[in-house]
Amino acid sequence: MTESIYMLEGSGGNIGVLVGNDGIIIIDDQFAPLTEKIKAALAKISNKPVKFVINTHFHGDHAGGNVNFGEQGAIILSHENARRRLTADYFFEAFKETQKASPYEALPKVTFADSVTFHMNGQTVHVFYAKNAHTDGDVIIHFKESNIFHCGDVFVRYGFPFIDQPAGGSIDGMIRAVERLIVVTNDQSKIIPGHGALSTKKDLVDYKNMLVTVRNRITDGMKQGKTLQQIADSDPLKGYVVIIDKWFFVQAIYNSLKK
Ligand SMILES: [Zn+2]
Repeated sequence: MTESIYMLEGSGGNIGVLVGNDGIIIIDDQFAPLTEKIKAALAKISNKPVKFVINTHFHGDHAGGNVNFGEQGAIILSHENARRRLTADYFFEAFKETQKASPYEALPKVTFADSVTFHMNGQTVHVFYAKNAHTDGDVIIHFKESNIFHCGDVFVRYGFPFIDQPAGGSIDGMIRAVERLIVVTNDQSKIIPGHGALSTKKDLVDYKNMLVTVRNRITDGMKQGKTLQQIADSDPLKGYVVIIDKWFFVQAIYNSLKK
């Protein structure tokens, strides 16, 4: 993307990379079995060690490699809620899968509530909290001089996003975070989604419109006194790609709006 910033695609979430004389920062580290592949890809662009790993949130396809990078001496950072969630088993109802509590080496060594800024490799890297969006511990990373953003799973390209409502995610938080991004980006911005191809501001706008459309369909149903089942039967996700059973998406939005 630039001489010092890269995006690595693989089997988990997209990895953002900043290289230079001060050492490497990576944003997310996919699943633990992929660490060697990731390290091989990093070795092609830099001979420096990974100094910092930033977790965009606690999900295993983004933070699963922590155990390896943590053992090798990288300092892991996350939002305080993401670390708290990493300390316990977590059951994904939508996927019928349990993510095990992380061992100590895999836990973030540094946490923050609102934001943190790195000054490394000639870049100002601002990491800021997106409150109750995909989960309750999402952060977005802004490489200020390069006009590049890494959004974690607050912004994805696989269709309608998974909102982890039991882990504090909410449709309104997603919309707020994306609206904030739309304000701070321009037509030259390069936007790394949590999953999918490198994107533009226009993609963010389309994504926000999708979120707002579906939220409005569901709130309209709620105002009419419809039950969750009746709203799900009316297919509020109509017209959008949904990767798993639509029921879980409608339920997550409905529950987050009911609060
Ligand atoms: Zn996720």
